[in-house]
Amino acid sequence: MQTIRGFRDILPEQIRIWQKIETEATGLFKAFGFEEIRIPVIEKTELFARSIGETTDIVEKEMYTFADRKGDKLTLRPEATASIVRSYIQHKMYAVDPVRKFYCIGPMFRRERPQKGRYRQFYQIDVEVFGVASAYIDSQLIFLLNELFRRLGLTGLSAHINSLGCPECRPGFQTTLLTLLESKKDQLCGNCLRRMNKNPLRILDCKSPECKAAISDAPATIDHLCRECSDHFKIVQSTLEKQGVDFKVDNTLVRGLDYYTRTAWEILTTSLGAQSAVAGGGRYDGLVQELGGPETPGIGFAIGFDRLAEVMEQLEKAPDPDTVDLFIIALGEAAMEKSYLWYSELNQAGIRTEMDFRGKSMKALMKRADKLNAAQVLIVGENELERNAVVLRDMGTKTQVSLAVDTLVENLTRKMTQSNETG
Ligand code: ATP
Ligand code: MG
Repeated sequence: MQTIRGFRDILPEQIRIWQKIETEATGLFKAFGFEEIRIPVIEKTELFARSIGETTDIVEKEMYTFADRKGDKLTLRPEATASIVRSYIQHKMYAVDPVRKFYCIGPMFRRERPQKGRYRQFYQIDVEVFGVASAYIDSQLIFLLNELFRRLGLTGLSAHINSLGCPECRPGFQTTLLTLLESKKDQLCGNCLRRMNKNPLRILDCKSPECKAAISDAPATIDHLCRECSDHFKIVQSTLEKQGVDFKVDNTLVRGLDYYTRTAWEILTTSLGAQSAVAGGGRYDGLVQELGGPETPGIGFAIGFDRLAEVMEQLEKAPDPDTVDLFIIALGEAAMEKSYLWYSELNQAGIRTEMDFRGKSMKALMKRADKLNAAQVLIVGENELERNAVVLRDMGTKTQVSLAVDTLVENLTRKMTQSNETG
């Protein structure tokens, strides 16, 4: 049996990087006052259709949607924002505190063409803020991404930002855009032609080279912003500058989901070929209300966990495997019986201990200790046990000492905690 196309196992050798990323990310988010939230992986299809938008790639062709046994239309979540907004409204979280800040980590599902950095089950680290309209929060979220990547030692990333306007100024922009699109109709793909009148902004996100060429002189949203949107975007930029975050204003960035208003951004890397976005985010001031909640500003981002892990691997930022402090070589049944109890107690005490239960020879077990890179080996033989003593061998210096059995665990714990502390 094999995994299905686009699905994969993340093996222990890879997990070390994943854990390092997760530890840094959650540490940073907690320091900035974010709380974890966990949401279901399945929701009603309608939730995603209404929030992400009926004419987006995700909703039109990428969702895993099925009818359950009673005929309800359900979907494996393609992203987290919609569910978190649903949860925010369902639990009336706005009634508890006008400002809520969440993070969420988990798998997402999109039926895309699998390739490196693009999977059908992939993971996102998601951050959302509700109740803050101020541009400082836009800057803060971009700053947080920048800070996380800095802590992880990543280089070669660039932040692209844009403003998509609001319901006040977007219609004016769309009218201008439509005029251009009408004149380029014969150069657009079928997808774009179909979406043109329903959702002209989508065409700016089309990946087809012909469409890209046709709209190369498309108007820019930032040239059509209303006063408020324009001021908002200026604060975002000046704040990022003050915080020393490198960014570039990118007029072509519109993002693939319909709910965005004002600031939208992507963090791009050059080290993954075509799949270059490691994170994307934006403001969604209309979404809470759209889904039935009170008027509430919202903003968030999602990091592509798989892609981030791949960038880290390429830059050789993988942490070293955990090492074994102590390997117990137990020779014979009586030794095994005693050693097994020490083995558990030492692990309980925080000494990373291993032993082998197969009854192998001294030579074979020394080999295994070497392979595990054990710092020390405890040799427990029948003869030694009779004399109430065991032998501790330092694998580095190759020196041996004899230790008394009755105080063994305390003795070893003291010795090894000291040597761990001195490095
Ligand atoms: P792309 O343009 O690469 O398709 P997207 O705009 O569809 O990305 P978002 O919905 O913004 O992606 O999701 C945020 C992040 O999640 C992306 O920047 C990317 O790193 C990651 N991501 C999206 N789709 C996939 C996928 N199929 N496999 C792996 N990572 C993904
Ligand atoms: Mg996509």
